Amino acid sequence: MEVDPNRRLSAIGQALAILGDRWVLLILQRALVREVRTFAGWRDTLPISESVLASRLKDLVGAGMLTPVPHRDGRTRHEYRLTARGSGVWPLIVAIHSWEREWAGRDCPTLIHESCGGEAGPYLACGTCGTPMSARDTETVRGPHATFAGIGLPRRRRRTARPDDDLDALGYRPDSMEILGDRWSTMVLAAALLGTRRFVAFQAELGVAPSVLTDRLRRFVERGVLRQAAGDYRLTEKGLAFFEVCAVLVHWAQEEFTAPPGSGLVITHRPCGAALTPVLACAVCDRPLHRRDVRFPPPPLGTAAGSAGSPAVLVSSGRTRAFPSPCGSRRAHDP
Ligand SMILES: [Zn+2]
Ligand SMILES: [Zn+2]
Repeated sequence: MEVDPNRRLSAIGQALAILGDRWVLLILQRALVREVRTFAGWRDTLPISESVLASRLKDLVGAGMLTPVPHRDGRTRHEYRLTARGSGVWPLIVAIHSWEREWAGRDCPTLIHESCGGEAGPYLACGTCGTPMSARDTETVRGPHATFAGIGLPRRRRRTARPDDDLDALGYRPDSMEILGDRWSTMVLAAALLGTRRFVAFQAELGVAPSVLTDRLRRFVERGVLRQAAGDYRLTEKGLAFFEVCAVLVHWAQEEFTAPPGSGLVITHRPCGAALTPVLACAVCDRPLHRRDVRFPPPPLGTAAGSAGSPAVLVSSGRTRAFPSPCGSRRAHDP
């Protein structure tokens, strides 16, 4: 993982350098919700080649997300345990799951909140005032040196955001990977959430080649994330809802990575005026969700967990991570 070049990146840029890859997200997801810890565990549950898996695990260790420890039984060389930084991605995994379930037609397992027994149906809430929060009632102020150049990097990896080829019930759908699995796509969506609407404005903001921009905007329109109106590209409800994923990602990034001064974002919850502390809350009982306290129901009898289309058994456990933290600046999210 491009360690040195990343030092001059914003925290969000550093986070995307690690997470902006479908395989990385899937590896972390399996670790977080299925407790997968071994090379064989990932290899046997993901349609990933051994060489790609080895390279991604090496990247994740290098990025401080996983730590290798010798395995007790002596047959497996290593177990890869989540570090605190790696465990901190849990809310992001849940936010992606939740967005896909609602907006990407994903037929995936329901998250059960153990404390209340209800379907968690997680929503984004403000950790300060406790009320639900969306893109519309937040304001984002950029630091004086927060530019998209602080996010951008030449991609080293080939785009992996393709296929529906997938996977089991937990496999990511193309919609979310269209956004997160490709750096330019992520930046186009981020710019849209920050209020950019016109082609020339995206171009000026991102410094992207017109052909690349045209392609990404077209894909987003096709997927119903943006719509064209009077020469503008505007976020649809589906696109706006991705704010939840972005808010959680920004929060994690700014907690975990040191970055050049002034390169951050401050997201403020307008109703209470507090800097954003994103919390995922349960739709039934409104209490914050924690990793130890949610699970996915077991698959119906007669279906193999992990086979295509079947709900998977997912028992979550592990460290609970509170969501403390700020992000901030000066553009309203009014699409
Ligand atoms: Zn609030
Ligand atoms: Zn609940």
